[in-house]
Order: sequence, then structure tokens, then C-alpha cells
Amino acid sequence: MKKDAKIAIVGGGIAGASAALYLSELGLDITLFEKESSLVSGPPMCHLHAGGNLYREIDDAQCVALLKQSIELLRFYPQAVDFRPTVIATPLEDPQAPTELLARLEMLKEEYTKLITQDEANAVLKTPQEYYKLYSKEDLLALKERPSVKKPKELDEWMIVAAKNMELDKLQYPVVMVQEYGLNMFRISASASLALAKLPNAKILTNSSVTNVICDESQFNIEYEHEQQTHSETFDYLINAAGFRTGEIDDMLSLKRKRLVEFKASYVVQWEREDVLWPEIIFHGQRGTPKGMAQFTPYPGGHFQLHGMTEDITLFENGLVESCEESSHPKLDAIFLQKINRGWHSSIIEERTALAVEHLTQFMPNFKTAKIASKPLYGAQQIPGYDKTLRASEVSFECDRYARCEIVKASSILTMADAITKELIKLGYLDEKALGSRDFEFITQLNPQEITSKAKSICEQREYPLAMAEVNCPVS
Ligand SMILES: Cc1cc2nc3c(=O)[nH]c(=O)nc-3n(C[C@H](O)[C@H](O)[C@H](O)COP(=O)(O)OP(=O)(O)OC[C@H]3O[C@@H](n4cnc5c(N)ncnc54)[C@H](O)[C@@H]3O)c2cc1C
Repeated sequence: MKKDAKIAIVGGGIAGASAALYLSELGLDITLFEKESSLVSGPPMCHLHAGGNLYREIDDAQCVALLKQSIELLRFYPQAVDFRPTVIATPLEDPQAPTELLARLEMLKEEYTKLITQDEANAVLKTPQEYYKLYSKEDLLALKERPSVKKPKELDEWMIVAAKNMELDKLQYPVVMVQEYGLNMFRISASASLALAKLPNAKILTNSSVTNVICDESQFNIEYEHEQQTHSETFDYLINAAGFRTGEIDDMLSLKRKRLVEFKASYVVQWEREDVLWPEIIFHGQRGTPKGMAQFTPYPGGHFQLHGMTEDITLFENGLVESCEESSHPKLDAIFLQKINRGWHSSIIEERTALAVEHLTQFMPNFKTAKIASKPLYGAQQIPGYDKTLRASEVSFECDRYARCEIVKASSILTMADAITKELIKLGYLDEKALGSRDFEFITQLNPQEITSKAKSICEQREYPLAMAEVNCPVS
């Protein structure tokens, strides 16, 4: 048994920061290396995919995995979730009928019921009967006539503002409302940083870039740069959570792995609108075509985050690249790395944000008055293997002391942490009883005001509206 094992985690995105939190709460000696100045600063996340209903192309098994994993994430970071539902509308011109979604929604409702039977603390997406609701055109026409509800509670109340603003004649029916909530990355960053700071066995090295890793028979020697000085330290176990740069660490160790890397962006606007809370609204569409899905995500203060799955908005020509025989690290064009490392030119921000607003305006004409509120939220992410539709993915193990975090959606972090825990038990670093542990002291006891204040300072440092540090519908 080696209970004093030293574990290194490279990368403090949601995967690495959450692994650090999970494993240090289990008592392990953790060192986290993050090259940026704060945690969870990579590609954004705004939607908790509790059922994968935004992805018509994925199979039922992935939807069930996303449902279960989202419930786990919600229980781990409850203060980072915006508890408002999502409207899923299908435009008339879309070739897929919304009725094709119904069997899957019903299956997800049953799976949710089973999860609650296994553990009643899983009942975090309202009751199974309220997991989703269908609306006919007549229902929406009737809701449109009702007065808006400032702080909606029931699904119908949430739907009123959507019914008043969507072009109802341009939609197929039924329109769906589902309990898929918002995720606030600034609050995740704040929660993880505050909780890790309280754990004496977690050493968080920000502004520390890992430049080389050498593996000998029993240890990893990690070289890193901090304040223009090179340092090195040895560890018993390595967790590679470097996000789209996971392949760079693989390359340092001469390990072969197939993966994709994709650069994407979303846009932040402010809109003078009726002062009521909004649900998220999705207008389905064929990804990569000019009719790609449009996504409208509400934040406090009239701010909205927009995605449009077309090459002019969220996706980019040549934005998806794959690894090759010589390197496990897919190489993005310099233009994307420049955006990640140095930011965007203001003219491109204006152009793409205007296109995002226009894309939404097709279905919500009043939205045309929305204005740019900040730079976009963007970044590159990895997808293990070459299936670009993969959404539920967690971690892979190359040898008995090397884990590679390969999440595609934020929700997969607890399944990822469980799989790593299993390996650490095999090595004798943890007791059997650690497996599946959900008993977390530091993360669940954080004070909401402390999180908001930290999240505001993160927004300020990253130059996003301070209002985005809060959620409209906090955990009650
Ligand atoms: C536009 C867009 C929208 C998205 N929306 C959603 C959403 O709504 N919901 C959802 O669940 N997911 C969403 N995703 C996916 C989500 O952002 C990713 O799954 C998630 O951020 C991956 O987390 P990660 O920790 O694996 O990687 P990252 O967040 O990329 O973290 C990796 C970290 O490693 C650090 N690092 C890398 N190399 C080194 C090194 N050598 N030394 C030290 N540090 C290093 C990096 O600085 C970075 O902080 C979206 C992605 C994009 C691009």
C-alpha cells in the first residue's frame, strides 16, 4: 500500500480541477499544474445536457449516460447551475419532424424515474412527470395571450415568454420543453478555486506550464515553467487533463492516440427586453449548414449567449482537425491558436456576433435589437477517436499510472473521477470504500455569496459582464 503517493494533474479546466477536488477530498496528495492564471478558463460551457436532447444524431445509450452524468454534476456543483428549462423548437423547413424525438424523451423519463428509485437525492430535475412537456400550436397561441410571469415556476409559465416571441407559424409541432438547465462556467471556476484553496493536500500551481514529462519505471518527472523559471518534480501518478492539448503530453511520452480537436465560439449580447426570466431556446437545424441549430441561453441582466451551428457563427472552416501517425496532438491552424492565445480582432467579433443575432432573429424577430455585450466565449476541445458526434466520453488509461481525461461534455466529470479512483484503488493508493464516494465536504459547503464574489472577479479579469457571474434561478 502506498497511501502517500504523489499525484500530478496537468490542466486545470473542469476535468483537471474537478479531478483535483475529488481526489484531494479523498485525502490524496495532489499537485495541479495550470498554465493560465485561473482555473476553468478554457472553452465555455453553458448547457447541462441532462438527456442529450440537443443532439438528435446520438444514440439512446449516450443520452442516458448524459442524463445520469448531468445529475451527478448538478449534485457536485449545485451553485453553478441555473435551474431553468429549455425549449426545443423545430423549424418548418427542417427535414426532421419533432415527433422523432418523442420516444427518446419518454425513454429518458423512465430512466430518470429509475435513477430516483436508486437514490432519491437524484430527484434534481423536478419530478419525472415534469421532465418534459409537449406543446401544440394551439397551446402556444393560448399561452401567448397570458400575461408574462416575472419569476416562472411551472413549465407553462416558463413557456409564455417564448410563445410571445417565437414566430409560431415557422415551427413544426409539438414544441418541447425539457428540464435541461444552464451551466455557469464562471461559478464553476469560482467553486473549484474556493474549494481547492481549503484543501491542505491540494497544491494548485497556476501560471505554471508543463514543458516536458519523462517517465521512468516507477515515476514521472515533470518539468514546468513558472515565472520564467524552470522547475521539476517527480510524481507517482500522472493525470493528463490538458484539454485540446492532451495530445501534447501524449507526444512528450511518445504515446499514440487518435483524437479530434475542434475550435468553436459562442457570442455574448445584451437585449432590452421585457424584464422576465427566460428559458433557454433551441431551434434545431442541420449542423454545418446555413440552417444549423440556433441556441439562445439567458443570463442575468438581459445578457444572452448565442450559438449557431453554421460555419459563419459557432463553427469555422477547417476548425475540426485530427491527429496523425506522427503526432497524437491534432494541429489547429495558426489563426485559431492566435484567437486562443491572443484574442480576436474587434471587426471579426462584430461580424460574427451580428450573424449570430441574425440567425436567431429568423425565429424571434424582436431579437434584432440585441447588441454585442463582450468578446465571444470560445475555445478548442478534444474528442477522443474520430467520431465527431461523440458526446459522452470520460477517460482512458495507457498504463497503470497514466490517466488521460477526455471529456467532451462537462457533465462527464464524475464518471471520469470514478474510473480514475478505481485505478488508484488497484495501485493501493486508496481504500476500496473510496469508490463511488459522493460525500464532499468542501465543495458542497461553499457559501453562495463567496462564490458570486469570486465569480465576479473572474468575469472582471476575463472581461465579461459582471452580471454573468450570477444565475437567474439559483439552487433553493
Ligand atoms: C463554444 C463551445 C461551447 C461549449 N458548450 C458546452 C456546453 O454548453 N456544455 C458542456 O458540457 N460542454 C460544452 N463545451 C465543451 C466544454 O467546453 C469542454 O468539454 C470542457 O471545457 C473540457 O474541459 P477540459 O478540462 O477537458 O479541458 P479545458 O477546459 O481545455 O482545460 C484544459 C486546461 O489545461 C491547461 N493546459 C493545457 N496544456 C497545459 C500544460 N502544458 N501545462 C499546464 N496547463 C496546461 C489549459 O490551459 C486548460 O486550462 C463547449 C465547448 C465549446 C468550444
